[in-house]
Amino acid sequence: MKKGIDNSKILDAIKTALPLENKFVSLHEPRFEGNEWTYVKECLDTGWVSSVGKFVDLFEEKLAEYTGVKRAVAVVNGTAALHICLTLVGVEPGDEVLAPAMTFVATANAITYCRAVPHFVDGEEKTLGTDPYKLGDYLKEIADVRLEGCFNRLTGRRIKAVVPMHTFGHPVDLDPLVEISERYKLELVEDAAESLGSYYKGMHTGNWGKVSALSFNGNKVITTGGGGAILTNDESLGKLAKHITTTAKIPHRWAFYHDMVGYNYRLPNINAALGCAQLEQLPGFITRKRALAERYREVFGQIEGVTFFAEPDFARSNYWLNAILLDKDFSGERDNFLEMANSAGVMTRPAWTLMHKLPMFSTCPRMNLDVAERLETCLINIPSSSFLGGLHE
Ligand SMILES: *Cc1c(COP(=O)(O)O)cnc(C)c1O
Repeated sequence: MKKGIDNSKILDAIKTALPLENKFVSLHEPRFEGNEWTYVKECLDTGWVSSVGKFVDLFEEKLAEYTGVKRAVAVVNGTAALHICLTLVGVEPGDEVLAPAMTFVATANAITYCRAVPHFVDGEEKTLGTDPYKLGDYLKEIADVRLEGCFNRLTGRRIKAVVPMHTFGHPVDLDPLVEISERYKLELVEDAAESLGSYYKGMHTGNWGKVSALSFNGNKVITTGGGGAILTNDESLGKLAKHITTTAKIPHRWAFYHDMVGYNYRLPNINAALGCAQLEQLPGFITRKRALAERYREVFGQIEGVTFFAEPDFARSNYWLNAILLDKDFSGERDNFLEMANSAGVMTRPAWTLMHKLPMFSTCPRMNLDVAERLETCLINIPSSSFLGGLHE
């Protein structure tokens, strides 16, 4: 047997960091310990459960305040938010959009909803997200910058945008990505679905993209049941985001007049009520999540053959989902470990199957994906619910 890795030691390390004994531990659970009941009851009592109501406005205000953007627009889910972000920056049928190979399928799906083509880019070990320098070298090889934009020399298609994603809440290296997007005339859209509460160089993620997307799905840092938001610092784009996600109706007391094809992507008031209550608890969630990450970091410091993924220097992460990386020699052990941990009631799972390995995206253009390929074989997510970080206090 190879020296250096022992699956039961890894499992013991996880259990040491967790407060609970002999109980099933899920990957990520929501917690409702604030004003959720009160606010939802108010919706039911007043009848304002659906597409308008004070909680939608309040949630949007509080989100903008928390993230530091000029405008937040609440929508039905993160995928819809991404779809509209891409539409707003002008992604058109036949365009290519640069997106990570290692991401949740929604990123690539949203590109496809615009009848555009995802073009997959590699990640880096430091952030688990897009490697800006490797991307820069790649574009130097394949991209032509013309007056009308950036064109892929190999496919002839326009490359309209780049969508970095903050993997498991860890910010990508945004400054060099902004530089590349300017040099190549690409619109920057942040998939910030996982990074509510994560900061890059002191500023909240979602502030670098022309528009950015958040998700409040049940497994995210805060949840509205299902939900998402579009963030932007461009007031007119913010207005347009609200308009296009609310059926593009011109406000009037009785007339139904719509001035473009809009979407019914509104977040219902009852979900926004949940969101308002969850936002109040967000700072506490993040403190506990960071405390849990710190315990993991300590225990995994002692374990050979495996590294706990920690935020890079420029980031302050929400540690939405904690991750460990098996050393190169031991990545063959991944499935054995997953089998053992899940059987023992400690929920763990691998990274997403890379996008270009899914049937609908298998023919999409892509760069060399060595790092993403390696991360796919060695990355394991471990239990990360915020309450797990509070119980040792
Ligand atoms: C969760 C998530 C989304 C989509 O969010 P939904 O609210 O589930 O539609 C998009 N991108 C990434 C990276 C996500 O993790």
